[in-house]
Amino acid sequence: MLIVMHHHATDEQIQAVKNTVEAMGLRAEPIPGSMRTAIGVLDNQGYVEDSTIRELPGVREVIHVSKPYKLVSRDFHPQATIVDVGGVRIGDGEAAVVIGGPCSIETEEQMHAAARQVKAAGGQILRGGAFKPRTGPHSFQGLGVAGLKILRDAGQAAGLPVVTEVMRIEQLDVICEHADMLQIGARNMQNFDLLKEVGKLDHPVLLKRGMSATIEEFLAAAEYILAEGNNRVVLCERGIRTFEKATRNTLDLSVVPLIRTMSHLPIIVDPSHATGKRPLVPVMARAALVAGAHGLMVEMHPEPEKALCDGAQSLDPEGFGKLMKDLGRIEKFLAELDN
Ligand code: PEP
Ligand code: MN
Repeated sequence: MLIVMHHHATDEQIQAVKNTVEAMGLRAEPIPGSMRTAIGVLDNQGYVEDSTIRELPGVREVIHVSKPYKLVSRDFHPQATIVDVGGVRIGDGEAAVVIGGPCSIETEEQMHAAARQVKAAGGQILRGGAFKPRTGPHSFQGLGVAGLKILRDAGQAAGLPVVTEVMRIEQLDVICEHADMLQIGARNMQNFDLLKEVGKLDHPVLLKRGMSATIEEFLAAAEYILAEGNNRVVLCERGIRTFEKATRNTLDLSVVPLIRTMSHLPIIVDPSHATGKRPLVPVMARAALVAGAHGLMVEMHPEPEKALCDGAQSLDPEGFGKLMKDLGRIEKFLAELDN
């Protein structure tokens, strides 16, 4: 529920509304605006009887929010959230952030080379999977904890914060020790127990959209994390499952401008998993920035033809370098358009 106050409401009237809400056993969060203050009501399990509140002095309107998310919504939190990942800031008003690196951590040499190449090209965060959610059990499943150590060392050597995927609650301690950001993959977007656990931590979280998740389900998944106290969440559109088979997934770019109006959380795009095809990745990466993405996650392998996972969609270092240059030019162009 959202309580909208009159623009002339006094601080005492706002406080009185807050007290009334709290006396009902609910949480009240004032949201100051340029014209008027609103008060977000949280922790209710269902409809809240509002007659007492409506009659309080200074109350203009009471809006019942039936969506399964509130904390992630712009209505409750108009100011954009900036997520800091080891000193790299992601969100409104910041330069687009590129997370680059291989699908999986394979060897020390591969990961250190990838880290140097990402850094040299201007990428800001290094990625690499140690625990891999593979479609079949006979595919490479990742190096596990040994991989985490390689990732951390490669990131440190190159001066890049690192992000890696967590699949199970039991992996959280060791991943938090080694990584600056936790990735929740598409397949786990609705693993509610996992979402609740990462919500209790203060590591930033990269939440990827489930393969057939609606926008409402995507935002509701993020809500699980914020509801536990962790608001350091970056959303990631990575393509959804449609009838089309020519691409690995269908990149739903329209969610970028839409989510930017619906939520205060930053949103980035992963054109690698979205297309599954190397030649399409740079083009869709460029399109994502034009659509307003706060950043990108791009798979880059020192030798894509030898990759143990997702080689066909991985850029080589040269392709990645060229993409980074193009993105810099696009950002300048977009800044001019906004002026
Ligand atoms: C990944 O980023 O390596 C990955 C498995 O992505 P997704 O969860 O989007 O499929
Ligand atoms: Mn991958």
